[in-house]
Amino acid sequence: MAKKTMTKKTLEKIDTKVQETLARLDVDMVGVVRIDALKKNKLAQAAQKLLPSVKSIVVFGMEIYPEFLELTSPERAMGTPNLNELLTRHNEYLRGRLLKAGYDVAKASHQAGLKALPLPALGPAVDGRFLEAVIPYKQTAEAAGLGNIGMSSLLITEKYGPRVQLTLCLTEAVLKSTAGKPQKNCRYCNVCVVKCPAKALGRPKAGEAYALNKYACRTYVEAAGGCSECMRVCPVASPRYQ
Ligand code: SF4
Ligand code: SF4
Repeated sequence: MAKKTMTKKTLEKIDTKVQETLARLDVDMVGVVRIDALKKNKLAQAAQKLLPSVKSIVVFGMEIYPEFLELTSPERAMGTPNLNELLTRHNEYLRGRLLKAGYDVAKASHQAGLKALPLPALGPAVDGRFLEAVIPYKQTAEAAGLGNIGMSSLLITEKYGPRVQLTLCLTEAVLKSTAGKPQKNCRYCNVCVVKCPAKALGRPKAGEAYALNKYACRTYVEAAGGCSECMRVCPVASPRYQ
């Protein structure tokens, strides 16, 4: 029995240099999902397809400022300025910071002789047939204990509600998991469903977190030049409701 415990401890030896790098990152949220804890589920398989020897997935999050979100609108009169573009530029800045964090972790991994794959902050490659990401950022963040997926299909965090940009870095480094008790930040208030201008959101079936018609959402967003209503109207951690 003692021998078994020791073997487990040896296997769980944390890669300290990479772990220390996480504490120095200039981002608002950092989480870690350990591949061995995922028990070969869909997320583990997706990560292993990208980096077969992956041991940990690091999730980074940056707060989207509510000031920008409040200026957005899903409707626009012909010729008027598109203030949605201010949010787009803001998100570009946040993605730059997230990308840097991903590359910092990758660099620390490489210096420790370990492989790493920092993923794009704009989002992963998507299978256009099903609009499915090769690895889902929001579900990974949920598995890392950073929040839960709400009825809007967005990650709902305790501190920033749905106002977060995410990215990931896969690494061979063994890191401390941040997964804890599942969070319940979505209030199931239905506001996002009612306010969705494309009627792309609906009541989820039992056992499912959300019901989103991805094609209806994408078509609307492209035609309107942006839409963030489901994020804007969510009451969780929103200054609009304080
Ligand atoms: S608006 Fe309400 S139902 Fe929708 S994600 Fe936010 S808390 Fe959940
Ligand atoms: S982004 Fe707009 S269209 Fe898409 S689900 Fe949210 S509110 Fe609906």
